[in-house]
Amino acid sequence: MIHCIFCKIASGAIPCTKVWENKKYLAFLDINPITPGHTLLIPKKHHDYIFDMNDEEYNELMGIAKKLSVKIKKSMNSKKIGMMVEGFLVHHTHIHLIPLQKAGDLNTENAKKESPERLTVIAEKIKAGEI
Ligand code: 5GP
Ligand code: ZN
Repeated sequence: MIHCIFCKIASGAIPCTKVWENKKYLAFLDINPITPGHTLLIPKKHHDYIFDMNDEEYNELMGIAKKLSVKIKKSMNSKKIGMMVEGFLVHHTHIHLIPLQKAGDLNTENAKKESPERLTVIAEKIKAGEI
């Protein structure tokens, strides 16, 4: 998809603060995190609506979300990882994985821009964990 920002991130045409990747999937930090460590997991291949994905890819994506949540939770010292799917701003399937300390933390009104330097520090912390 020529005009899709996440396709451009997946191809490397636009930079991102990468947390993890394999051949088919990529996880990177949201530039407007709701809490520190807020990660976006995407399939590299363009899909719009997550529930239109075929079962195999959907299950793979969810399996990676599960593994990543362990890594993010540990490195960010959070109580839980919240999961959110909206996709009204970017029409390329993505799962938000958001470190939570308490009820109410999963609130898009708390999203605010983070500096690239700070995102890099956080990504390094997450990457140091194992998946
Ligand atoms: P949604 O489509 O789920 O409503 O929101 C899209 C999410 O992608 C937002 O949380 C927004 O901050 C994030 N986002 C939009 N553009 C970029 C980008 O270029 N880089 C990164 N890392 N995140 C982005
Ligand atoms: Zn795309």
